[in-house]
Amino acid sequence: SLPTTPLSLATSDALFTRAKNHIPGGVNSPVRAFRAVGGHPVFMQSAKGAWLTDVDGNRYLDFINSWGPMILGHAPEIVLEAVRGAIGNSLSFGAPTQREVEMAELIKQMVPSIEKVRLVNSGTEATMSAIRVARGYTGRNKIIKFEGCYHGHGDSFLIAAGSGALTLGAPDSPGVTQGVAQDTLTVPYNDLPAVERTIAANDGQVAALILEPVVGNMGLVAPAEGYLQGLRDLCTQHGIVLIFDEVMTGFRLARGGAQELYGITPDMTTLGKIIGGGMPVGAYGGRQDIMDNVAPAGKVYQAGTLSGNPIATAAGIAQLTYLQQHPELYDQLNRTTTRIADGTRQICRELGLNYTVNQVGSMFSVFFTDQPVTDLESAKTSNTEAFGRYFQAMLHRGIYLAPAQYEALFVSTAMTDDLVALYLTACRESMREAHGL
Ligand code: PMP
Repeated sequence: SLPTTPLSLATSDALFTRAKNHIPGGVNSPVRAFRAVGGHPVFMQSAKGAWLTDVDGNRYLDFINSWGPMILGHAPEIVLEAVRGAIGNSLSFGAPTQREVEMAELIKQMVPSIEKVRLVNSGTEATMSAIRVARGYTGRNKIIKFEGCYHGHGDSFLIAAGSGALTLGAPDSPGVTQGVAQDTLTVPYNDLPAVERTIAANDGQVAALILEPVVGNMGLVAPAEGYLQGLRDLCTQHGIVLIFDEVMTGFRLARGGAQELYGITPDMTTLGKIIGGGMPVGAYGGRQDIMDNVAPAGKVYQAGTLSGNPIATAAGIAQLTYLQQHPELYDQLNRTTTRIADGTRQICRELGLNYTVNQVGSMFSVFFTDQPVTDLESAKTSNTEAFGRYFQAMLHRGIYLAPAQYEALFVSTAMTDDLVALYLTACRESMREAHGL
């Protein structure tokens, strides 16, 4: 059951006070700060299944799941077992290991558009590397990205960026040089004619078009009917490398990610999160003729001391293998998340709030607006102050949501129907509280 007494966050608050003296803003990633919702971040101690426990002993139902990777819930025994089995053999070699080969084979089986794959340590590295390869392959400089999409903190992507950059009001980061910024062309999401115009205005100069095929980083936004196919056609026509950034959606929306769900084949794919089962890892891959440009097969340089780390690959292989062998989990995730999204919509309607709830598979967002949300502009019609009050009301009822309107929520297989019922009860009370109803 969920807590009924007000939370005590004394230990978290004390840690945050200490953290602010030593770490910029007190956190190691801005999305963890509670800047958009008030209050202080909650410091976590442990987690199992769908439940988090903080340093003060409070328990929360988790809808972040480490921003995606914990698709089986926290601390699944099969993943822990694999990690335990691996650590005795040393934590890193800086030399090739068998598991890297197995991981590459597994990724290729599950995502058939990937013919060759390189492991890295984060989603940021994956996207930075992918555009370098696309530039090397095409001999062109510019890339197209979409307003409100987030592709990690590489310089080229901190233009009209989503997620924390958007929440903090700095989508165009200082520190990115004009030289880099001018090579990133941005267009609104779900607007195919805008892409056509941008390609035409930069004829023969666009190396890559990168997008989240289902966007998680302006809140959850689905591609319009025919949109991904339209982008695929434009890229083919103009010799542009189409990169699906599936760092969030990979192995989550289907075993083969959004590309399987929508039946569109990109030229390159970037991955992260789920493939490490919670360990730091990322990957980029795609067509063999493109990927064979990567050093040492080709001349485009990309490297990493800890890449293909034995513990990360052990965790990742365990989680991916489990997903591969249990396709029914995706139906379960879809059903659970649909129940959550439908229930939330109904609660809002009953309270006279016609809020927009977007859902694709096990990702969803509740936008505090009555407009349909299809791009950044419509996402920004949300009432972020009301969202902040809702977030706090949910937190104090033991529901841990992303601390910003412009984020997706993630559901794990540990979310049972009983837990959905707890969520919905808290949702109703918190919507009331946030709106004085
Ligand atoms: N791409 C997408 C779509 C992401 O959502 C993220 C992070 N949330 C990244 C790239 C960057 O990944 P990382 O934080 O592991 O560097």
